[in-house]
Amino acid sequence: MKYITKYKSPNYNSRNNSKIQLIIIHYTALKNTLDAVSYLCKRQKKVSSHYLISQNGSVYNLVDDKFRAWHAGKAFWQEITDINSISIGIELDYSPSGNNNKFSSKMINSLKKLILKLQRNYKINKNGILAHSDIAPFRKKDPGKHFPWQSLSSSNLVMSLKNLKKNEIKIMEKWFKNNNLKLKKQKTILALSLIGYDTRQVYKNDKLYNKLVRAYRARYLNSEDTVKNNSIYDALIKHLFNFLLTKN
Ligand SMILES: [Zn+2]
Repeated sequence: MKYITKYKSPNYNSRNNSKIQLIIIHYTALKNTLDAVSYLCKRQKKVSSHYLISQNGSVYNLVDDKFRAWHAGKAFWQEITDINSISIGIELDYSPSGNNNKFSSKMINSLKKLILKLQRNYKINKNGILAHSDIAPFRKKDPGKHFPWQSLSSSNLVMSLKNLKKNEIKIMEKWFKNNNLKLKKQKTILALSLIGYDTRQVYKNDKLYNKLVRAYRARYLNSEDTVKNNSIYDALIKHLFNFLLTKN
């Protein structure tokens, strides 16, 4: 895979020997690739990403994988808050309100190749390919509800939520019961927490709970789905079952 390497960002530091475990997908919300390169490489901005993918599928390598690029900000996943140290950041030249408001097939093809390569190089689990909105659901929306996760899961890069058989659903419900959970909201929060989401504040705060559910919906449910708590609950049961099976 060929990268454009003539632009480099000074915005990185040492990973301090942390192992790379996650890939975080972002959009730039900027006008075009040129603006994005200049933004991500400007010292004063104090942000960066390892890769930037343009609308025509070119891949810019702005920070070497071995360094800690600054893309995640305040974040949380599986009890870890220093996400930059354990992740690779990929920015997509996309803005919901710009002319670049489509995830072009060239862009997505390059992204898939890049993810596959990184997964192989660093043995990253399928559960470790995340949206910025997964690790910062209360602040961030990117890569947004139109990002084609479906395409990544059909290429077997991320976990797909397969349909569960009746007895598998029974296993999950029994498991919830053994954990003393009766209310759907309780089960939803526990499932989200086990998968990795930051649920520390959501029990007491409905606003944050709704934001978290919205982030989950953008990631795992079809954007055409309306706000149906049942479909979210069903998706979560499948997700948790698959997650527990594929954890290692
Ligand atoms: Zn982002």
